[in-house]
Amino acid sequence: DHGLSEADPEVSSIIKKEKERQFKSLELIASENFTSRAVMEAVGSCLANKYSEGLPGKRYYGGNEYIDELEILCQKRALAAFHLDEKKWGINVQPLSGSPANFEVYTAILNPHDRIMGLDLPHGGHLSHGFMTPKRRVSGTSIYFESMPYRLDESTGLVDYDMLEKTATLFRPKLIIAGASAYPRDFDYPRMRKIADAVRAFLMMDMAHISGLVAASVVANPFEYCDIVTTTTHKSLRGPRGGMIFFKKDPVLGVDLEIAINNAVFPGLQGGPHNHTIGGLAVCLKHAESPEFKAYQNQVVSNCRALANRLVELGYTVVSGGTDNHLVLVDLRPLGIDGARVEKILDMASITLNKNSVPGDKSALVPGGIRIGSPAMTTRGFKEKEFIAIADFIHEGVQITIDAKGLVSGSSKLQEFLKFAVSSDFLLTDKVS
Ligand code: PLP
Repeated sequence: DHGLSEADPEVSSIIKKEKERQFKSLELIASENFTSRAVMEAVGSCLANKYSEGLPGKRYYGGNEYIDELEILCQKRALAAFHLDEKKWGINVQPLSGSPANFEVYTAILNPHDRIMGLDLPHGGHLSHGFMTPKRRVSGTSIYFESMPYRLDESTGLVDYDMLEKTATLFRPKLIIAGASAYPRDFDYPRMRKIADAVRAFLMMDMAHISGLVAASVVANPFEYCDIVTTTTHKSLRGPRGGMIFFKKDPVLGVDLEIAINNAVFPGLQGGPHNHTIGGLAVCLKHAESPEFKAYQNQVVSNCRALANRLVELGYTVVSGGTDNHLVLVDLRPLGIDGARVEKILDMASITLNKNSVPGDKSALVPGGIRIGSPAMTTRGFKEKEFIAIADFIHEGVQITIDAKGLVSGSSKLQEFLKFAVSSDFLLTDKVS
């Protein structure tokens, strides 16, 4: 039995190159992080070999005594990490990732074509919250359920709760979804609970981006107000790629969430759980109870604030004026430049972040902003000082992009090359006009 480099030099070399890329670049994608060696060891273990359809004690395959022990341990650690009472909250740790977890909740509590309301994708929401365009129902959520997104107040960059309330009163959704992929502020859970109660809707929070911050109590706690909370496990939580669904144990609107959600995960939408991921998740959740984890999450937020403050000092428009969490959304439109070009130029300098639409954007392909996240570089030991330096580097990249786009000043070889790169569009993967 050979190791990877002997058995498959090609894949081994690709992994080596990717590792080097991750090591050398400034990783600022808000949804990414570096998980621990201990988590990776569990993910790369013999747990990957085992089939275990069903739940602990109720499996469709033999040989699951240790897998049962592992899944029960993972469940207990998950409830402990989020400070939940086992009598009041249940959990399913089998979702393969965030999008499947969300769809499993929808199929558990809704009938086909029931109505849902989530934050619109161009305003920071996620595809799986029901995104559709006037021409196309883009995600499975909008194909199988009727979606009426709520939006931000474009003048403040904050969720327009008044509009959500008005629309919910008319649309009468059965489910309201809090949570986002690009929203730098806390959600107003008490307000959303009120709105949901008034129309007899379930309230779900998708805390994928901020679950690490929630576990460390550095942002508002969605569990106090929501019926169901979903999450990925690989973003600020710093675990393996996976998903979890937390649900209230008492029936909500006449539905036994425990039965409905467990059945939706298996046999509804999944087969055998990925036990290697559950192993890695259990390790990650043990980390989550340590004082170092809390210190890390506090640092994530204060690094992000330092970054936002420096960008504001440099004259940038930051959506909502700042941040309460791990990400900053910069509106580049006042500078006459788009996020796609800036993403590409920064990529050339090994600064990895992503273009992002900002409220009021016309095009999703060439959006007017960039999203910058602090979790990954905080894992690598960066503090406020380094994040201020990152803001300065980003500023340089933006200046070069502006210069290059306008073919104005600048004479260094690099700037000459960048002028060519930006003006010819050849580096842009998306069609840019
Ligand atoms: N929910 C939110 C808020 C997300 O930001 C994401 C991914 O970025 C997901 C769900 C989907 O997770 P996955 O990519 O693991 O399916």
